[in-house]
This record gives sequence, structure tokens and C-alpha cells, in this order.
Amino acid sequence: MPFSNLGLSKPLIDAIAAAGYDKPTPIQQQAIPIALKGDNLIAAAQTGTGKTAGFVLPILERLLTATTLKKKRVRALIVVPTRELAIQVDEKIKQYAQFTELKSTALYGGVDYAPQKQALIEGVDVLVSTPGRLIDLYGQKAVYFEEVETLVLDEADRMLDMGFIEDINKIIARLPDDVQNLLFSATLSNPVRELARSAIDDAQEISIAKHSASKSNIEQWLVTVDKDKKSALLAHMINEYKWEQALIFIETKHGAAKLAAQLEKRGIYAEAFHSGRNQKVRAQLLEDFKRGKLQYMIATGVGARGIDIHELPTVINYDLPYPADEYVHRIGRTGRADAKGEAISFVSKDNFKNLCMIESRLGHLIERREIEGFTPRKEVPISVLNYVPKHRRPE
Ligand code: AMP
Repeated sequence: MPFSNLGLSKPLIDAIAAAGYDKPTPIQQQAIPIALKGDNLIAAAQTGTGKTAGFVLPILERLLTATTLKKKRVRALIVVPTRELAIQVDEKIKQYAQFTELKSTALYGGVDYAPQKQALIEGVDVLVSTPGRLIDLYGQKAVYFEEVETLVLDEADRMLDMGFIEDINKIIARLPDDVQNLLFSATLSNPVRELARSAIDDAQEISIAKHSASKSNIEQWLVTVDKDKKSALLAHMINEYKWEQALIFIETKHGAAKLAAQLEKRGIYAEAFHSGRNQKVRAQLLEDFKRGKLQYMIATGVGARGIDIHELPTVINYDLPYPADEYVHRIGRTGRADAKGEAISFVSKDNFKNLCMIESRLGHLIERREIEGFTPRKEVPISVLNYVPKHRRPE
């Protein structure tokens, strides 16, 4: 089905063509008609599926027909967990709205209020924000919600994980009763369902996440290695495989800085990307990485949430992510929207249970490979599928 059959107007079709998209992705095919009708929607979809256009395009279409920009009054509200995602979604809105008069802006914490307030005064149709800053500016009467027609909760599971439930409930309570609700989440876990039940009536539900948990365009494999050999292994693999670019995930900020230093000693330049670095530096690193100027970026899971790098070929889980859903999120960084990708995890003996949980979540084992010279002294046992952690095992 081509985009032209979805009922979008010419300025949006032109922007889609300019972006080089041939046809809607499955989530777009399903979500756009529902959202265009004005219905509520709960969608299980990960990043990388094209979900952003899945909600942005119908929002823009519905706003195109009406007019009037009013000071401090926004017409669509997109709430996201992190500032990186806020910036990224705002960039997408601007891209898709480039042939329209519609205006958007992104709000997030850790920066000056003044430019954000000024943008709201000048008028915004579509506002993207992290929950905390939005509530903050609402409290300061810098933004009003009575004209909001559509609310999007993007990466809802992540927002709940990050403890934003109270802020989200506050936002929902302040919106008009007849607002259209669109909820996107990588997984429809119980807390997400509870949020959906309490906040959204009569929603249509679509799900394309489950299968893309192990998207076939991502080659996943793991290397068993002793914990203390991981940095040497990474340096060896970088030299051996000569990846064009790699995003390397690590557990802690401290670990990220240390690994960058260890690689540097081996003559490899990598930058650490985490919440301990200031916003400007992070924005620059992201820009450099997106443009291919930076080849290796070491990121903490939270720091890297929302990074959208088109066609990133390689993701390395230097530390195995926890919980299992986080693994799925991360490998969603690669092989996005039909591009081929590779996700490689380093697994040591103490990661064994975590590995079993990830493989159980995926529903299949991850191929194991050993790298010559790095055979672990502490062997990683054979995986158990359908693994149940001990404390939850039935009596
Ligand atoms: P998202 O899941 O929204 O983060 O999108 C993932 C990536 O897919 C982004 O880089 C989009 O620009 C790209 N994308 C979105 N829709 C399409 C499409 N229909 N065809 C090709 N690429 C797309």
C-alpha cells in the first residue's frame, strides 16, 4: 500500500517523498487510519519501526484543516521520556511539517526556561516535552492545555520505568475531557495496561512489537568472555572487524569513561555519552555520531534512550542489559526500518541468568561465538529457554 492511499494531504505526502520513504511501515499502515479518524489508540511498537511518523503524520493532518495559533495554547501534546527523544521527535515533526505552516517545539529539563517560554508565546501547534519540564512550565502558566486535541504518550513503558507516573497523571488530569489519546510502548506490560485503563477509553489496540523483538534484519550473536577481558576483546574486535560505526552500551557512567580511556590506550578513539556530560556536549556527540564523524560511541542505557541513528549497522552490548526488555529496546537501535543490523553481546559467567531471561523473552537462543584468544576461563553454562527466576518459580 502506498502512502497516497492513507488519506494524507499533499504537503505531507511531499514531505514523505522528500524523506525518501517508499511505503508505510506496518505500524504506520495500522496506526495512521485509526489516528486520522480521531480514535484512541494503544500501540505496542518499538523504536525503529517507524512509529514516530505513525503518530506525527495523522496529528499534522488533523491540525492542517483547522487554523489559529494562539499564544501559549498548544493543539497536540507529545510526552516522551528523555530530552534526546524530545529533540529527535521535534526534528521529525519539523521534517514532516516542512511544507505546512504548522509549528512545533521541544521542551526538556536541564536548560534555560527563557527560550522555551518564548517559543510558547510565539505559538506552537505541536509540543513535544518530557513530563517534568511540562508540569513545571504549566505551573508557571507558560503553557495552557485547554486547546489540546491530541495527547501522545510515547515510550510509555520507559516513562513508567523512569518514575514519571505521577507527572503523567497530572498532565492527563489537566487536559480537556474529549482529548484523543495515543499511547505507544515497546511492551504492553501490566503497569502500561493499568495506565491505559485508567486514562484511555475505548482504545483500539495494535501490536507489532512481539515479533520485531527478534527482527530478522538484525543479526544477533554473543561472545562468551571473562569479565576482566572485555575491554581487550572490544579493542581486538574493533581492529579485526573494522566496523563502520558502532554504538557500545555499558552499564554505568563511570564504566563508560573508563572504557573510553582503555580504548584510547590501545589507539582507538571513542567518546562516552551519558547523563553526566552536559547537554551541549551530548548534543554535539550525537550530531557527530549521526554524521559519521564519530565512529565509536560508548553509551549508558538511559543516556542513549531515544537515540535515532538511521541505519546504524552495529550495536555492542558490552554489558548485558537488564531487564530483558531493555535488550529488545537496545537492539531496536540497529536495523531500523528495514536496514540490516548486527547486535553483538559480551556475556560472562555472572551474566548467565540474565542471558537466560533475555533468550526466553526473545523465544530463541542467541548464537554463541568464541573469539580466538578470548576463550573464557569461567565457562558460561548452556542456556535454558523458558527460564523462570528462582524467586518466581512455582512451589
Ligand atoms: P522510529 O521508529 O519512529 O524511531 O523510526 C525509525 C527510523 O525509520 C527513522 O529514522 C525514520 O526516519 C525511518 N522511517 C520511518 N518511516 C519510514 C518509512 N515508511 N520508510 C522508511 N524509513 C522510515
